[in-house]
Amino acid sequence: MTVAAQHDGTTTGDGPVRKVVIVGGGTAGWMTASYLVAAFGDRIEVTLVESANVTTVGVGEATFSDIRHFFEFLRLEEHEWMPACNATYKLAVRFENWRQPGHHFYHPFEQLRSVDGFLLTDWWLRYPSTSRFDADCFVMAALCDAGRSPRHLDGALIDQDFVEQDRSGGSGRTTILEYQGAQFPYAYHFEAHLLAKFLARYGTDRGVRHVFDDVVDVRLDERGWIDHIVTAEHGEVRGDLYVDCTGFRALLLNKALDEPFVSFQDSLPNDSAVALQVPLDMASTPIRPCTTATAQDAGWMWTIPLISRIGTGYVYSREYCEPEEAERALRAFVGPAAADVEANHIRMRIGRSARSWVANCVAVGLSSGFVEPLESTGIFFIHHAVEQLVRYFPGGDWDPQLRTLYNQSITHVMEGVREFLCLHYRAAKRSDTRYWRDARTRAVPDALEERLQQWATKLPEASTVYPHYHGLPPYSYNCILLGAGGLPVRPSPALAMADEKAALAAFQEIREKGARLVAQLPTQNEYFARMRADAASG
Ligand SMILES: Cc1cc2nc3c(=O)[nH]c(=O)nc-3n(C[C@H](O)[C@H](O)[C@H](O)COP(=O)(O)OP(=O)(O)OC[C@H]3O[C@@H](n4cnc5c(N)ncnc54)[C@H](O)[C@@H]3O)c2cc1C
Repeated sequence: MTVAAQHDGTTTGDGPVRKVVIVGGGTAGWMTASYLVAAFGDRIEVTLVESANVTTVGVGEATFSDIRHFFEFLRLEEHEWMPACNATYKLAVRFENWRQPGHHFYHPFEQLRSVDGFLLTDWWLRYPSTSRFDADCFVMAALCDAGRSPRHLDGALIDQDFVEQDRSGGSGRTTILEYQGAQFPYAYHFEAHLLAKFLARYGTDRGVRHVFDDVVDVRLDERGWIDHIVTAEHGEVRGDLYVDCTGFRALLLNKALDEPFVSFQDSLPNDSAVALQVPLDMASTPIRPCTTATAQDAGWMWTIPLISRIGTGYVYSREYCEPEEAERALRAFVGPAAADVEANHIRMRIGRSARSWVANCVAVGLSSGFVEPLESTGIFFIHHAVEQLVRYFPGGDWDPQLRTLYNQSITHVMEGVREFLCLHYRAAKRSDTRYWRDARTRAVPDALEERLQQWATKLPEASTVYPHYHGLPPYSYNCILLGAGGLPVRPSPALAMADEKAALAAFQEIREKGARLVAQLPTQNEYFARMRADAASG
């Protein structure tokens, strides 16, 4: 139902919800503004207020493969936005040294096959072809090792097996909802501030009013709802619905409306990061098609290749490492290329607001909640939230059920991802520092503790992972358990009596397909050189 139809038919309260005021112009603010105008067009009035004095968080470069639905919804094609954001492809997260120094494994964007009703990982435990579960069970591992692009030089996707059936119902626009359970084969790396800039143009071209100013006060009415915000130079700004995209400050939701914050610190202790933007000649630097997460003494470091540079940073816990020490370790890891680059130290607020939608205020982005970027979930949280906001957008009667449903779906996503991240630390075999030894015994949510016991006997499947949608399918849990290597796992006893021929053939097929695709596909460098040449020739 469109907003206009709601206005015509069902408004019973103070009038239609047409005016949306977004505070914050980071990735969250502009993704929200552009998505709302893409969904509702000029039936909605969107104002975005952004401070010229308060900087954005300045990081956030790797995504989830679901992000493609965001761009499709906005009817943006890769060639329109990728060059503007220095974007590259990401086929997987590559975990280095989580088991022991020199070891790596991938968590790819690829569904796990099953043979005769058993996951291929289960077969692999019984009949391992090599020591690498990821290379035996997923085609993507070979492509990542060889630095391949998921598209051929003519733009065609890897191969037909990876092409999803169109479930858009004819609109050509897709959302996460229709594709739950499906797996698109890649995500993107991009410069988040350039994406915000690109989306700002997209939004303002479609009518978003953009105000550069500081919000200095948030005034509530007698019900405790937001009546208006006060800006330093533009006076009062009024709306029906307010979206808090003010980052970790959460000015509207946590400060003005006093909504409590539920910390995840007890189970996920990393509370800090230091980041460097490493200038490199990317034409001559291999562009790995994956985000790399390298375990360190007191956390882990990300490495993200972009067209323009490498983004890197150290995520750590101040309980185990001081910021200066973290910066030293990061600089030693990167080498001289970043000698002249200033480091960005960030204090992270890990957890979620108890409710992300309270009264007439919805928090999206870091203000709603955040977990460390180990699985690149920050932008996924934003995308998921704006989809849900459109889905549960209020009518004039502000039916509280819509808020409740929205809050439930946000809570599920955050709590599910929390469990998934906790698994990484519990499962890591590494135990050479106090940080990693403590990680093995740190408290995790009770439900996860129970699941871990089940997974020791039977690898994770749909019925034994976090039961609500949170973006991570059961195969993702298999990857971390088998890759990180520190928890006991065993094959199903039934496989000792089952005929293994079909499973062995599946392993063989994956190996052959990986080798064939590595021979056929260009490297990322070759692919993006072509994209740039095509763009230059018009
Ligand atoms: C170390 C780190 C690494 C990350 N890596 C990833 C990653 O790889 N992948 C991923 O998906 N996510 C990642 N994230 C998360 C990602 O960066 C954020 O989800 C994303 O950038 C959204 O931020 P935001 O827009 O919510 O907040 P911010 O970027 O902090 O923006 C806040 C906005 O609010 C405005 N503002 C604040 N106060 C006022 C005021 N008084 N008046 C007016 N405006 C105001 C600011 O000017 C700014 O525009 C990472 C986060 C961190 C901390």
